Amino acid sequence: FAVTTFSCKTESKNTVHHSEETAYDAKVDSLMSLMTLKEKIGQTVMYSGGWSVTGPVISSNNKKFIKEGSVGAMLNVYSVKGTKDLQKMAVEDTRLGIPLLFGYDVIHGFKTIFPINLGLAASFDLEDIEKGSRIAAEEASAEGIHWTFAPMVDIGRDPRWGRISEGAGEDVYLGSEIAKAYVRGFQGEDLSKHNTILACAKHFVGYGAAQAGRDYHTVNMGMDELRNTYLPPFEAAVEEGVETFMTAFNEVNGVPATGNKFLYRDILRDEWGFNGFVVTDYTAINELVMHGYAKDRKHATELAIKAGIDQDMMSSANREFLEELVNEGKVDEALIDDACRRILLAKYKLGLFDDPYRYCDEQREKETIYKPEYLEAARKSAAMCSVLLKNDDKALPLNNNQTIALIGPLVKDKENILGNWGAAGDRTGKAISVHQGIQEYLNDSKIIFAKGCEIEGDDTSEFGKAISAARKADKVVMVMGEDYDMSGEAASRTNINLPGSQTELIKAIRKAVPNKKIILVLMNGRPLDLSEEDTLADAILETWFPGTSGGHGVADVIFGAYNPSGKLPLTFPRTLGQVPIYYNMKNTGRPIPPDNPHEDYKSHYLDAPNTPLYPFGHGLSYTTFDYSDVKLSSKTIGFSDTLTASATITNTGDYDGHEVVQLYIHDKVGSLTRPVKELKGFKKIFLKKGESKTVSFDVTVEDLKYYNANNTFDVEPGEFEIAIKGSSDFDFKQSFILQ
Ligand code: BGC
Repeated sequence: FAVTTFSCKTESKNTVHHSEETAYDAKVDSLMSLMTLKEKIGQTVMYSGGWSVTGPVISSNNKKFIKEGSVGAMLNVYSVKGTKDLQKMAVEDTRLGIPLLFGYDVIHGFKTIFPINLGLAASFDLEDIEKGSRIAAEEASAEGIHWTFAPMVDIGRDPRWGRISEGAGEDVYLGSEIAKAYVRGFQGEDLSKHNTILACAKHFVGYGAAQAGRDYHTVNMGMDELRNTYLPPFEAAVEEGVETFMTAFNEVNGVPATGNKFLYRDILRDEWGFNGFVVTDYTAINELVMHGYAKDRKHATELAIKAGIDQDMMSSANREFLEELVNEGKVDEALIDDACRRILLAKYKLGLFDDPYRYCDEQREKETIYKPEYLEAARKSAAMCSVLLKNDDKALPLNNNQTIALIGPLVKDKENILGNWGAAGDRTGKAISVHQGIQEYLNDSKIIFAKGCEIEGDDTSEFGKAISAARKADKVVMVMGEDYDMSGEAASRTNINLPGSQTELIKAIRKAVPNKKIILVLMNGRPLDLSEEDTLADAILETWFPGTSGGHGVADVIFGAYNPSGKLPLTFPRTLGQVPIYYNMKNTGRPIPPDNPHEDYKSHYLDAPNTPLYPFGHGLSYTTFDYSDVKLSSKTIGFSDTLTASATITNTGDYDGHEVVQLYIHDKVGSLTRPVKELKGFKKIFLKKGESKTVSFDVTVEDLKYYNANNTFDVEPGEFEIAIKGSSDFDFKQSFILQ
């Protein structure tokens, strides 16, 4: 009964997509005809190897289940040795020898850690994101991983929510393009190659809309918001061929996602034609009980399989209850066949039936991990993801003939700099601190270091040393932010200030050296309320958590070797009270208020303006870009026409640099009201100083469609405003008519 009987040479996905799929289907059928119900259920079960860098911690129960053929996949097992041992068990000790699938959270790098995903989004650089995830797949696959639980494509509009750090920010278009870039990077051109891994679009859906930003909390949203904001990045991932989906922990309009038929059967499968498989989030079947949706775990198991959930991550529910549910006539065996088929298909596509050990190669592991070119790519990403929020009087870049006071709890940090999900990465060994990065540019005699304070806590006892460092130096660079675990899962905050006494320290330094330039370098996993820091620092550089080569990349920006080009993928509020605040909001029925809180009857706050501190799309450069000569190819277009919008961008400053040119459109009247602005395109260009380029965008009705009042994805004729800009902070001046 050895499964190798069914193997045949795999072909390239791109060239013979259809026939390949059919060939696999026949193999799956043939294999399934030999499988017992229990074995089929086994494919729908995933257990964890536990978290250990030295190797998997496999319980004896899990080993027993693997040997029985009751496990289809494992998570949190990595290293060639760890995966090989278990794979051997599955292939040699089970009746049918079906290989296991090894999944892992390869989120923003595997060993070589790239900037956190929110930072990657700030690069607006799809090629770089694809390349980074390709590298992550190379490294992970060399350690036995077949499947990443990424990308997280949840739209995030609430900075209290810790997992905002794992997504691409607030925008639908940017989020969708980035979702596709990740999928391309992880899955590569050809899944049957041993250096590609399955991607997983998660968490379907609405996870980012948790009430009050509290992780896992209730989600209630109408069709407009669901269809036009939260679903599109998932649909984009399906279009790009993503092989798997993960459920969300939250409920959506009263039905927990993991039991939500409407989401998985009606939308994902029937509407979008998704052929891959769906895994639950960690223990999410069991959580249906706590949600108050299932009366016990058995009931939860029934609801999940009926909703269209194929694989059970860690609830142990499918293994314990599915067979019984079938025997009792409560679950149709065809549902289990379907789930099993989808999972086996993925294993065939990966080539695991040809060679179950193809991802377990010690030599490749040695050659692949932390390749110098990967570390170099991570350095470039760190520079490209940095966003220059403020730069008064050209405080940055620095030159190397001045003395710098380097102050703050993150100056020498090599742990937080990796951000969340860096567990497989070496938290202290490989990472380059900002201090080390700066040492490459500045002689040690010109660096005066003082930690000044911790990230958290109100201790001010080290302030004195920091103040005296600032007094001795020409300029002050302060490296501050959050701990890496203040964002991520179950890490929501009710205030979004710089934690601890860090702001107090900036104030103390400002007071001590009122005329010296203070440059604030930030590492954090969410938009912070920087309204106070904005008045204290001359320059603010947002570096997110920049990863393994972060110190190098950030120093490249600080010293001008890389001219910053990052743009905010989400809004930074002035105060938490404005949240949710995002650029693509709707108008109210009231006139647009001037930012004057004392105007009556306007939709505003009495104590703060409506505008954010830093808008979506904002990000400065060491040079300046002028936008002129904005042209539309026509003032009126028909349904089959293409409108070309163009603008001339000129580098008017003193440095060469990249600019992210952004196209925004506003659909003025709709059967459902439309956002005041929507990003519909962007292009990243490079301009030498003094150089000009004309950038153009083609707009067709496809770009103007949305889910309208009839729940139909369509375009409605009328007037559309349009603009080409360097940030979302502008007023439209031009429009065209679709008729
Ligand atoms: C997270 C997922 C993750 C999974 C496996 C869950 O707690 O919500 O995003 O993929 O764990 O580690």
